[in-house]
Amino acid sequence: MNIEEFIREIPDFPKEGILFKDITPILHNPETYNYVIDKMVEYYSDFEIDYVAAIEARGFLFGPQIAMRLNKGFIPIRKPGKLPAEVISAEYELEYGTNTIEIHKDAVKPGDKILLIDDLLATGGTTRAAINLIEKLEGEVVGIGFLLELLALEGRAELKGYDIYSLISD
Ligand code: IMP
Repeated sequence: MNIEEFIREIPDFPKEGILFKDITPILHNPETYNYVIDKMVEYYSDFEIDYVAAIEARGFLFGPQIAMRLNKGFIPIRKPGKLPAEVISAEYELEYGTNTIEIHKDAVKPGDKILLIDDLLATGGTTRAAINLIEKLEGEVVGIGFLLELLALEGRAELKGYDIYSLISD
């Protein structure tokens, strides 16, 4: 299946100069949505995994589906102030300013093997912050999966030493 056809480019979103990759056409069509989940589940079927974690918001479009298919629990990593129980936070740099993400402190136990999912790898800053949260709780990141990797931004360099899978590279 030529899944690339279901990713559209939106110029100047969310601000001028950014060419935004919009993956919503994949979700719109059950064949393409199933296909991407099937492919990711196939890749991780031999991995030893305790939980699947994903990053709000677009990671939630793929992470829970993969978790259910692998018969694993799901751990949400969210924007500040959204998770109700005790959290730990990680801050990361954006082009302008910073962002913060949070995880429930009791979501990961020492030694838990975590598969981390997000929709897109750009600079790797978001993923790095999510790894920091999991590792602060002494979890082990056994894999990091993306639907789409933007090669020009060299996010992989930020994530050296981890198993990285991207269904589509651009
Ligand atoms: P990074 O931290 O630079 O790797 O950016 C990745 C994060 O930003 C992911 O959580 C994506 O959801 C989001 N993101 C960055 N660029 C795009 C894009 O072109 N399309 C969709 N999401 C994007």
